[in-house]
Amino acid sequence: MYQSIHRLYHHHCLSKIFQPVNLKPKDSNVKKDEPMSLSQKLLVETGIISLRSNGMFALLPLGQRILKKLMMIIDEEMISVSAQRLTLPLLTSADLWKITGRWNSTGQELLSLQDRHNREYVLSPTHEEAITSLLRDVYPLSFRQLPLKLYQITSKFRDEMKPRFGLIRCREFVMKDLYTFDESEAKAIETYSEICNAYDKIFQRIGVPFIKVAGDCGNIGGSFSHEYHYQAVIGEDTLLVCHGCQEATNAQLLSDSVNAVCSKCGSDMATITGIEVGHTFLLGTKYSEPLGGCYQNKQGKPEAAHMGCYGVGLTRVMAAVVEVLTTSDNIIWPWEIAPFKVCIIGPKEGSLEAGVTRWVNHLAKVLSSLPGYEDDIVVDDRHRLTIGKRVLEARRTGYPYIVVVGKKAQEDVPMFELIHTTTDESCYLSHHMLITHMRGAAQNK
Ligand SMILES: [Zn+2]
Repeated sequence: MYQSIHRLYHHHCLSKIFQPVNLKPKDSNVKKDEPMSLSQKLLVETGIISLRSNGMFALLPLGQRILKKLMMIIDEEMISVSAQRLTLPLLTSADLWKITGRWNSTGQELLSLQDRHNREYVLSPTHEEAITSLLRDVYPLSFRQLPLKLYQITSKFRDEMKPRFGLIRCREFVMKDLYTFDESEAKAIETYSEICNAYDKIFQRIGVPFIKVAGDCGNIGGSFSHEYHYQAVIGEDTLLVCHGCQEATNAQLLSDSVNAVCSKCGSDMATITGIEVGHTFLLGTKYSEPLGGCYQNKQGKPEAAHMGCYGVGLTRVMAAVVEVLTTSDNIIWPWEIAPFKVCIIGPKEGSLEAGVTRWVNHLAKVLSSLPGYEDDIVVDDRHRLTIGKRVLEARRTGYPYIVVVGKKAQEDVPMFELIHTTTDESCYLSHHMLITHMRGAAQNK
């Protein structure tokens, strides 16, 4: 019993969190002419990520919290479509990639290595070969068990010629990849549209406006695909969006993109740039035929499964939402994935108002017990620093709300400053009003 009450009142203290703020990239790791994006600069300077070598970043504890929240959204939406999570090895036998032809077609972006027996492996950028060989090896899997939907959330590798923009285009990144197996093309299309709906929900829950476009199948192949993009100046994909009906497409699909006219309504299309954060593909039997990825059909015979594959770049989402929402040196996080939702700051030790410090832990307890704030309250308990300095850091890191326990907490009716960093509004509220306000804030998200 005590345990559960104790858990309910849990909050975090910034003094105990490893967050190396203002960590500048070392010159040896960044070439002078490397383009720097806003998200790269801010995520490094606020100690959320750290550049470890060219195109490779450590996700520090705050970055880990953001990643975990993205994973939770994805896991919940995957459960709702009966997809099951697994983990495949990061290394895939090169033999499988030779069978599908991608060993050669992927080119130098493919990272590979040899083990002590001189066997070759791919440090996988994607797992179509690996998952299809799994289906092959567990044969016979009955048609009754289809559709089968398997996904993982793991590190992926791509040996970019020029890694850039931090987590937007790096060499090691975290991706969620889902693979589906069906009996027929018709059933695979049903599954495809079910998963696309789940993807719409994932991006709706992240809460940043996104654009879904007909996509380019590229090196993955297959019959059709859709891409999910965030509109951003640094985006590397050119998209055409219809002024009339909002229909959108990747410009790579059109041979003449100069005078593009919407195929649905005939209106002119605007050209914008996007960061691709999700991609869905209907693959057909492109992988199951050559790799023997078969299920057992009604007649008891092996038959190649009709596949789909679906990716979300989690670390890329982390950076891309910053590119979309942030306009100054203060990060704006979407509510659902902010590293903490509220940062509480008390008076500097030895200051005249130091007597009100007791309110800090009290507010942390009360706020932690409100629905939507469990485990999401952090106290900046570095009391040797001024309130101003800590508010500045909290704004830069992008906690949606900052509560300041300062001078006005000494009044007969103690007043607390509430700063909503997302809108840059602030006001003074009594204890009761503060709790009411925060309860409402969580409900309206
Ligand atoms: Zn249109």
